[in-house]
Amino acid sequence: MHDLVQYFREKQLEKSTETTMKTRCPYCSMQCSMDLIEERVETRNRFKVKPNKNDPTSEGRLCIKGTFAHQHAINEERVHFPLMKLDGEFVRVPWELTFEMIANQMKSLQKEYGHNSVAVYGGGSLTNEEAYLLGKFARVALKTKYIDYNGRFCMSAAAFAANATFGIDRGLTNPLSEIEDSKCIILAGTNLAECQPTMLPYFKRAKKNGAKIIVIDPRKTLTAKQADIHVQIIPGMDGVFAIGLLKVMVEEGLVNYDFVKDQTDGFFEAEQRVKEISYSSIKKLTGVKLETIFEVARLFATSKTGMIFTARGVEQHANGQENVRHFLNLLLATGKIGKHACGYGAITGQGNGQGGREHGQKADQLPGYRSIENESDREYVANVWGVSPAELPRKGVSAYELFEKIDKGEIKAMVVMGSNPIVSNPNAIFVENCLKKLELLVVVDMFQSETARFAHFLLPSSSYLEDEGTMTNLEGRVVYRHAERKLPGETKHDWQILCHLAEALGVKQGFRFANSEDIFNELRIASKGGKADYSGITYENIKEKGVFWPCPEQSKGTPLLFETGFFTSNKRANFLTNFDIPEKAKVDDEYPLILTTGRLMEHYLTGVQTRRSKQLVERSLEAFVEIHPETAKHQQIIDGDLVAISSRNGSAILKARLTELIREDVIFAPFHWGDLHSVNRIFPPIFDPNCYMPQFKQVSVKVGPVMKIQKDAIFQSTIN
Ligand code: SF4
Repeated sequence: MHDLVQYFREKQLEKSTETTMKTRCPYCSMQCSMDLIEERVETRNRFKVKPNKNDPTSEGRLCIKGTFAHQHAINEERVHFPLMKLDGEFVRVPWELTFEMIANQMKSLQKEYGHNSVAVYGGGSLTNEEAYLLGKFARVALKTKYIDYNGRFCMSAAAFAANATFGIDRGLTNPLSEIEDSKCIILAGTNLAECQPTMLPYFKRAKKNGAKIIVIDPRKTLTAKQADIHVQIIPGMDGVFAIGLLKVMVEEGLVNYDFVKDQTDGFFEAEQRVKEISYSSIKKLTGVKLETIFEVARLFATSKTGMIFTARGVEQHANGQENVRHFLNLLLATGKIGKHACGYGAITGQGNGQGGREHGQKADQLPGYRSIENESDREYVANVWGVSPAELPRKGVSAYELFEKIDKGEIKAMVVMGSNPIVSNPNAIFVENCLKKLELLVVVDMFQSETARFAHFLLPSSSYLEDEGTMTNLEGRVVYRHAERKLPGETKHDWQILCHLAEALGVKQGFRFANSEDIFNELRIASKGGKADYSGITYENIKEKGVFWPCPEQSKGTPLLFETGFFTSNKRANFLTNFDIPEKAKVDDEYPLILTTGRLMEHYLTGVQTRRSKQLVERSLEAFVEIHPETAKHQQIIDGDLVAISSRNGSAILKARLTELIREDVIFAPFHWGDLHSVNRIFPPIFDPNCYMPQFKQVSVKVGPVMKIQKDAIFQSTIN
C-alpha cells in the first residue's frame, strides 16, 4: 500500500511544473513586489503569492488586491484578438488589417478636419515607457495637440500645488522609511488603510515611536481608527481647517521665522491675511471644534519633526490645489521640509500616477516634466525626436475638456489607452454620449470595459504579468517590473500597438523599438536636464531597490528633496497668499445631504480589473452608499434597501449601508462601479480652474428608496 501511494505521488510530481514569476502588483502606487508562483498540476493551474521581503517600499507586505491580482490577468473574459465593430457586434480581424483600417480613417479625418480632429486619452497605470511613447505618438505620429489622461482626476491638484510651492512635483519629498522618525503626522483626506494598505505599518511604527497621528476625514475610516485625533470635517473644508491651524501658529508665535525668512517668499502677506479670518467662521465652515484646531496646531508646530500627507479628499475639489497649498503653508511656516522626517506626501492613487505625469501624457507637458510651451524645452525634445520644434503641437486641453471638444464636433476620433473614461469622469452620462458621437473610437484594453463597449476597434493589450517596464512609485522611486508570462492569444503590448499604428500612419522613424528597455533609453535622453531627470537610471541599476528621481547621469538619485534649496528659480518656496474661503456644497430642502466618494480595499479605479477577480468580488460584490442611521430614519430607509441618490446633475442606484461612522449630513459611496451604479453620473462638471481637477468630493443630493424617487430622473440619466 505504502509503495502504491509513493508511486502515485511520484507520478503526480512528474506531471506538475512550477514557474516563479517576479512581478509587482499592478494596482496602487506602492507597487508592492512579489513572486507569483504558478503551479501546473495535471490540467489545472494553481497560484501562490510570496511577497518580496527585500522590497524597500512594501517591506514584504501585500494587500488583498495584490494577492489576487493575477486573477484578472488569467480571466477568461480577457480580449485575446483585435476586434472591430460590425453591425453592432465585435468581430475578430487580423492585426495588419486593423492597423491599416484605423490609420486610413485617421488620415482621412485629419485631411478633412485637421490634425487636431484626432485625440488621445491615456492612463496612470501605463508603464513609464508606454506613457512616454503615447505622448510621442500623439505629437509626432498624429501631430495632434489633444492628449490628456485620467491622472487629471487623481494627481493634478497636488501636482499643481507642489509645483507652485516647491518648483517640483514629486509625490513624496522623503522616502517612506523616514515616516517612523516623524513625531507629528497629519493625514488629510486619505484612507490609506484601504487605498494603500501596505503603507499603514509605516505610520503604526511612527506611533510606536511616540508620534501623534491626526486624521482629517468626514468618515471614521480604517485610517481614522489609527488616529490620536480624528477630525471629522465637513467635506471640502480641509483647506479652511489648515487656515485655522496657520492662524493659531501665527497668533501663538509658533512660526519658524528663521526658516520663513531664509527660504520662503510670501509669508508676511499670508500672515496678514490669516489674521483677518475669524475663528468663528473657521469653526462654522469646518464643523470642527476650536479646541481641536488649537490642539492640532500646537502639536504640529511644537513637534521636533512632522510630515503632512494629502490625498483625494483634499484634492478633488473646485479649489483642490489651494486646499493642498494651505497644508503646504503649514510645512513652510514651521520649517518642516527638506529635512529628515519632515516633509510632504501626495499619496498617489494609480500604479504609475507619478511617472505617468512626468513624461508627456499631460496636455501641456513634454518628457522630463518639460513644458510644451517653453521654447527651449520644445527645441530639446524635438531634437531627441528628430523633428523640427515648429512641428510640435502646442498645449491641448484637459481630460474632460476633450469630451467637450467631441461634443462641439472638433474632435472626431479618439484613442483610449488603459482608461475607462465613461466611469471615471464627472458628468459621466455626457461623456458616454460624446463617445457615441465619435466617428472613430479605438480602445486599447484587456477587457470590454464600459468604454470599450462603444469602441469601433478594441485592441487587446498585455497585462502586468506580460509587460516589462518601469513604474515610478509614490515615493518617486523608479522601479523595474519583470515580464515573465507569455502574451496570450494575439495580444500585444501597448508600446507595440503604438509603433504599429505609427507605421501604418506612415511615420516609421522614431517608432522602431526592439523592447521596452529601448524605449526607456530614449526616455532617459528625452528627460535629461528636465526636472524629472531619469538620465542616470538604467534597467540594471533599478532592479534591486529602484532609484529616486531626479537622477542625472553619474548620480545615485535623490531620496530626500530640498536639502540644498527648492526647485523654484530663486530656490525659495512660495507661500499661498490667497485666503479666499471656498464655497460649501449648498444643501437645501430638496437636496439636503452632501455626497462624497472614495475607494475600497478590494477595488481599483473603475473596477475593470478587480471586478474580474473572484476573491475580490466575493468580498465586495455590490455598489453601496453609507448613510448614518439617523439620516436613514428620516428618509425611511433600512439597511440593504436599494436607494436612488440624485443631484441636480444625475442619479445612481446603490444599496444602503447604515453606519454611525459617518456624519449625519454626509453620505459616502465608492466609485468603482459603472452603469446605473456609477456615482460619477451624479457629479456636475465643476473643476479647479488651475489644474482641472473635478469636484468629486462634494455635491448636494437627495436619497430615497428606489420606488419613491422620480422615475424621470433615473430614466434620463440611464437611457440618454
Ligand atoms: Fe501593494 Fe497597492 Fe497592490 Fe495593495 S494594491 S498589494 S498596497 S501595490
